[in-house]
Amino acid sequence: MSTAEPTTPIVPVDYDEAIARFDPVLGIEVHVELGTDTKMFDGAPNVFAAEPNAAVTPTSLGLPGALPVVNRTAVEHAIKIGLALNCQIAESCRFARKQYFYPDLAKNFQTSQYDEPIAFDGWVDVELEDGEVVRVEIERAHMEEDAGKNTHVGGSTGRIHGATHSQVDYNRAGVPLVEIVTKPIPDTGGRAPEVAAAYVRTLRDIFRALEVSEARMEQGNVRADVNVSLRPTRQDPLGTRTETKNVNSFRSIDRAVRFEISRQAGVLDAGQEVVQETRHFHEDTGGTSSGRPKSDAEDYRYFPEPDLVPVAPSREWVEQLRASLPELPAARRRRLLGEWGFSDLEMRDVINAGALDQIEASVAAGASAQSARKWWMGELARTAREQDVELTQLAVTPGQIAELQGLVDEGKINDKIAKQVLVKVLEGQGDPAAIVEQEGLAVVSDDSVLTSAVDQAIADNPDVVAKIQGGKVKAIGALIGPIMKATRGQADAGKVREIIMDKLGVS
Ligand code: MN
Repeated sequence: MSTAEPTTPIVPVDYDEAIARFDPVLGIEVHVELGTDTKMFDGAPNVFAAEPNAAVTPTSLGLPGALPVVNRTAVEHAIKIGLALNCQIAESCRFARKQYFYPDLAKNFQTSQYDEPIAFDGWVDVELEDGEVVRVEIERAHMEEDAGKNTHVGGSTGRIHGATHSQVDYNRAGVPLVEIVTKPIPDTGGRAPEVAAAYVRTLRDIFRALEVSEARMEQGNVRADVNVSLRPTRQDPLGTRTETKNVNSFRSIDRAVRFEISRQAGVLDAGQEVVQETRHFHEDTGGTSSGRPKSDAEDYRYFPEPDLVPVAPSREWVEQLRASLPELPAARRRRLLGEWGFSDLEMRDVINAGALDQIEASVAAGASAQSARKWWMGELARTAREQDVELTQLAVTPGQIAELQGLVDEGKINDKIAKQVLVKVLEGQGDPAAIVEQEGLAVVSDDSVLTSAVDQAIADNPDVVAKIQGGKVKAIGALIGPIMKATRGQADAGKVREIIMDKLGVS
């Protein structure tokens, strides 16, 4: 089912103008696939990209008589997520059937949680790129199962309209999910798009730190549904919201929120009402389009799942899990800031560049924090941009960076040569020390070699020599240039300078 767009074409309002006249309120639902060995309610393997319908059991397929059993590890992961988000953990909670008719779940219902989520009433602090912190309140985190995947064949769009037939792959059906729902996020002003993206990034980092999910956005491990509404001022009641479904990258989340704010402002300006509906985000245009009218909860006819007993985690178990929580990203950043002595700005740049792990690992391998920062935020960040990859995807390890910097610190190579060595490391030619050795790149500080290079330069440049001896000591650079060239940039520049001064009798 799809609803037609309003007949009067809506002209989106320029974003800055829209937020000057309207107050946006966000609500975000995040689904995270848990990295368990098996599915939420059966023993089928939880795997990505197996042959279609290879990772299924009678329960995944919803065959009559097949009964579900709760996956203890999935419950543990859900509790950890709840604790990391400062939630209360339910003393007892139940699963519920959320009923809808669609072939991606063969049972015709999704086993989810409704009025009794496992975790509720939490919060998480979200740091924006400029260091401002926004506290997002969490309504609930509940357990549920993922649905299978439909593929519509024969049409041009990949959607069901115009398709000749559809295929269903139940490998993903029954994969454990935790859905995290925020309370309305008010007071974001013009920063709503950034807050939405930063919130999902914060959750992604927490999932990874907890090791409950690989949390790879591009694999759909983390999927965000973004609710946006506008109201004239902060004092007004909440406006009608739309829910843009399955926005799967941080950039897309930012763009989808931005677009909805502009579009809804246009709807309101035209004297129309915002329709409560789900919307689809389009990567190519950055726009959203009308999906289906949003179902109210009663349409799903939720009722308690009769095939599963309530989950009642003991307080001891919850406390054990609380004690086992790893250091969370925000605390880790604060600790590293202190240990490394970076400025707040340097630290933010490092975080925004995704260089924190690499720098930490380089420091662990022996580099100083500042030198590690210099490499990862300088040459390597530039190379990553050129190759359009993440820092972690570059063909260099933090250990190699520590080794490279060690060679500089020992005076074996200078900064310029170090950059050349790094290029060779990135080309897969080996470790820095081995490359310096094989290619003979070590700094030349051998007096006899340098002295003869200096003699040659003096002989070749009598005019420069005259200037230097006439008191223009700065002209010495004009001699150092050809010497560096003659030694392929490997001469110890300080030493060369000393020899020249000595030879020309200046000081
Ligand atoms: Mn859900």
